[in-house]
Amino acid sequence: MSNVETRPQEETLCPPETAPEPGEVEVLEPRDVPLGGPRAMTVRRTLPQRQRSLIGAWCFTDHYGPNDVSTTGGMDVPPHPHTGLQTVSWLFTGEVEHRDSLGSHAMVRPGELNLMTGGHGIAHSEVSTPETTTLHGVQLWVALPDEHRNAPKAFQHHVPTPVELSGGVTASVFLGSLAGQASPVQTFTPVLGAELTLTPGTTVTLDVDATFEHGVLADTEGLSVAGTGLARGSLAYLATGRSTLALTNDSGEPARAILLGGPPFEEEIVMWWNFVGRSHDEIVAARDAWMARDDRFGEVQGYAGAVQHLPAPVIPGVRIKPRTNPSRPHRDS
Ligand code: MN
Repeated sequence: MSNVETRPQEETLCPPETAPEPGEVEVLEPRDVPLGGPRAMTVRRTLPQRQRSLIGAWCFTDHYGPNDVSTTGGMDVPPHPHTGLQTVSWLFTGEVEHRDSLGSHAMVRPGELNLMTGGHGIAHSEVSTPETTTLHGVQLWVALPDEHRNAPKAFQHHVPTPVELSGGVTASVFLGSLAGQASPVQTFTPVLGAELTLTPGTTVTLDVDATFEHGVLADTEGLSVAGTGLARGSLAYLATGRSTLALTNDSGEPARAILLGGPPFEEEIVMWWNFVGRSHDEIVAARDAWMARDDRFGEVQGYAGAVQHLPAPVIPGVRIKPRTNPSRPHRDS
C-alpha cells in the first residue's frame, strides 16, 4: 500500500516539549487516514507524527482492518512511486497482488514478508484479490541510510517460521533477530521486525538489543508493554538502554503485536507523499521525474485498473522541512 492521501501534509516537525524519560513508555496514538477514492479504506497511522518521526529506521507505520472488503472492493492502489525507502507488506488476513517496475509479480499472504527496495526509484501497484473477504495487516516503511538510499530496485520475499519462544508466546521474525530467531533478509541498517502472539493471560520478558529503540504496535486489545497498557492500534515507543521487554496479554483472547526496532536513525530525512529524501529540492525532483514518466521509476506491467500512473499531489507552497526525533536537534532547511 502507499500513502495515497490527496493532500499529504508537509512533514514539518515541531519538537515536543519533552522527550520520554529513560525507562518511560511513550504511547503514540493512531490517526485515521483515508486512502482516497469513494470506497476507500481507512488506515490507522502511528508513524510519522509530530511527537515522533522514526523508531530506528522505521519511518511509516499504517495498520488496517480487519475490514470486510467483500462489498467495498478492498485495496486497489494504482502504480505509484517510492524513493529512499523499503516497504514492508505484512498481512494477518487476506491476500494482495503486488506488481512493480522491476517486473516482480507476487502475492502478499499472511505471515509472509514482502520487502521492496525503492532506492533511487521504483513504482508498484497493490490490489487485494477477488477472493479476499477480510483484509487486515500493516504497511511499514524503512528509511534507507544516505550511503544506500539510491540503491537499485529490489524485491525480496521470505516466509519466517513461527516459533514458540516460551510458554504462550509465538514469534515470526521477518527482519533482524529476536530470541535466537533470525531473518536471512538483508537490510541497509540493523532492523528488527516481528509478529508476536500471546495466549490469554501470558506475560513474557523478551531479551532485546539495548542499543535499539523499540516500538510495539498493538493489533488487539489487552496488551501491555513494560507495565503500560496499549489500546488497539496504538504504538508504544521504548528508548534505547533496555535489555529486556516485558509484554502481557491481560485479555481472554489471543493478543497480537508487531515488534519493531533498530538503532536510532541519526540522519534527518524529508518525507513527502511516497518519497523519502534529504531536501525539499530532492522531493521536487522526484515528483517531477514521476510526473514526466522518467525512466527513474520504470513502468508497472499488468495492473488492470483504469489509472495506470497515480498522479502526485501538488507540492506544498512552502519548503518541506526535514524530520528529526525529539532527542536530536532540529535544523531548518
Ligand atoms: Mn507503495
